[in-house]
Amino acid sequence: SRKPLIAGNWKMNNTKTETIKFLESFLPKAKGLSVDIVICPPFTNLFVAAEKLEGTDVKLGAQNMHWEDKGAFTGEVSPVMLKEIPCDYVIIGHSERRQYFAETDETVNKKIKSALQHDLLPIVCVGESLAQREEGITMSWIMSQVENALKDISSQELEKIVFAYEPIWAIGTGKTASAADAQEVISAIRKKIAQMYCSDTAEKVRILYGGSVKPENIKELMQEADIDGALVGGASLKPDSFYALCTFN
Ligand code: 13P
Repeated sequence: SRKPLIAGNWKMNNTKTETIKFLESFLPKAKGLSVDIVICPPFTNLFVAAEKLEGTDVKLGAQNMHWEDKGAFTGEVSPVMLKEIPCDYVIIGHSERRQYFAETDETVNKKIKSALQHDLLPIVCVGESLAQREEGITMSWIMSQVENALKDISSQELEKIVFAYEPIWAIGTGKTASAADAQEVISAIRKKIAQMYCSDTAEKVRILYGGSVKPENIKELMQEADIDGALVGGASLKPDSFYALCTFN
């Protein structure tokens, strides 16, 4: 069975000082929990966070990366740099990156391959807009995002990937997808992976839900058979609410 994973995506929040404060409050409590925990602060705070996380069970993730190892890509950060911090995970293809920074299925695929080559565990985000949901094309859209993300990726590599289903209309809006709606899409993603690879592999891959996850609604989401954890924005910013999320069971 799959171990639950709770990941905090801080987005462009928390300075270095705030990061230290968060970790000094959160880490003493976050011991011996039954879930995997990942914190994804902004790039500028990764190094100080890594120092604080050393010797704990809490893992560190970046929110994005370039696919090249180095070179003339002003403003970008490479997988080699993240690995040396050391980061364990990297979020790839978040809807905000796709919407505001022109990321495409193609760059998402390049980044996933590069992350895997550098032994970083990708958290790959997919999700539909409100317009797409209302048009009734959620399933075909998500399945094409999954298929394109996994282009030329082996089943051995796939087992290291975490997916996050984040409906765009549920992000930061307070509107959570119902547990049943989230389960419907997430189980379809698992079926898609089973078709593309095999059911053994599909059973191993963790698929998270993201979008207005809070201590009040996480339990219901986690009761669904295919939902293996949460990718959390707003509610991951405060040590108390993030701790509540990590101890939902
Ligand atoms: P919120 O939890 O703030 O809705 O953000 C979700 C998200 O985008 C996590 O990556």
